[in-house]
Amino acid sequence: MSNHSMGLGDAVRAYLLAHSLRETDVQRRLREETSLLPECEMQIAPEQGQLMRFLAELIGARRALEVGTFTGYSALSVALALPPEGRLVACDVSEVWTQIARRHWREAGVAERIELRLGPALQTLDACLAGGEIGQYDMAFIDADKPNYSRYYERVLRLTRPGGLILIDNTLWGGRVAEPMVDDEDTAAIRILNDRLHVDERITLSMLPVADGLTLIRKR
Ligand code: CA
Repeated sequence: MSNHSMGLGDAVRAYLLAHSLRETDVQRRLREETSLLPECEMQIAPEQGQLMRFLAELIGARRALEVGTFTGYSALSVALALPPEGRLVACDVSEVWTQIARRHWREAGVAERIELRLGPALQTLDACLAGGEIGQYDMAFIDADKPNYSRYYERVLRLTRPGGLILIDNTLWGGRVAEPMVDDEDTAAIRILNDRLHVDERITLSMLPVADGLTLIRKR
């Protein structure tokens, strides 16, 4: 959802961006073009992209996976941290959105590192599992349709190596996860996954109030 971190006032966020954001020209242009789309709220915040790039650098990621690419800002951010021979498998269903993504990946010189797989992500992930890619990924990002979140998570967990990192987006869902009267399908699905993650002994985790809630998971 939103581009604004939970509870962060406009002035403080402006300060945060002014004093930490290092966005490339291509990233900025991609963000500006995406802001014109009706679905622009699906764009991750630039400081989140920077955090993802930071984390990819920190763990020395070489192989990354993304479920839900949209117009490509998160994939671009992570790809910038990958070595030239690094690979990011990006899953999405939209030809329209990912054409915007591909154009900017080319402009940024990282298109060779990103392998776009168009189609339902559950099928793509199952194909990865069947293709012998269990434990092959250093890092993964889940940011797609919420009702499938738990199904994506279980597959991505198997594809990630021990010690690898999984990021799950929108885990605070505009605060709606904490509003008892809200019980739509998306909110319910996010609550279920949050509850499962909290007690999942296969992982360690940290839920950050970054942007719309970002849960960091380390596979044990
Ligand atoms: Ca999102």
